Amino acid sequence: MNSVMAVVQCWDDGVTNDARLTEILRRHGAKATFNLNAGLHQEKRTPAAWTYQGTEVGRLGWDEMTAVYAGFTIANHSLTHPHLEQLPLAEARREITEGRERLQQFFGQPVLGFAYPYGTYNEAVMDLLREAGHVYARTVGNVEQPFPPQDPMTFHPNCHFLADDFWARYEKARTGGVFYFWGHSYELTTEPMWANFEAMIARISADPGARWGELTELFAKK
Ligand SMILES: [Zn+2]
Repeated sequence: MNSVMAVVQCWDDGVTNDARLTEILRRHGAKATFNLNAGLHQEKRTPAAWTYQGTEVGRLGWDEMTAVYAGFTIANHSLTHPHLEQLPLAEARREITEGRERLQQFFGQPVLGFAYPYGTYNEAVMDLLREAGHVYARTVGNVEQPFPPQDPMTFHPNCHFLADDFWARYEKARTGGVFYFWGHSYELTTEPMWANFEAMIARISADPGARWGELTELFAKK
């Protein structure tokens, strides 16, 4: 394994806070993947798509997504965010393939990653993802050494970005060479949380024993 740990991160659901998050990531030279539901975005942003802890969560509009995600990697989060394992096979296939195709078309980049809506899946869904051309699929499980995953279609991250033991897990991950965290930018609800988040990204960028990596690079054919 490399002595320099690859740090990979991904963010779900295409929410308006991603605009502020990507500015922070750019400021610190961080790479990231964004898991999007192509069937849920309107041309203009949806200001109150749902609420989280009493705060309205907005969904980005197509008219701003090229700018918000410029320089970052896009992955598939299904077309409309259903529990895929509960759908008839044909519907699950459409959620997966159409979600991927629309993102590829809009962003003009290959979409190779997937994140399970709600973190749920079964064998049939895993087969559909492989068949559609995804090289990995992220769960919401937390494991000490995520890479290489036993099955790329159940790629468990190390932890959520707000995990209490985030830095302990980060340190432990050095031996395995990969640290993978994930989250939703709508979970950043206060200014102190944003400040903490920026400090966290800055600390990783400043770590001589780490480098920002791309999820897809972990699965590139050697
Ligand atoms: Zn989601």
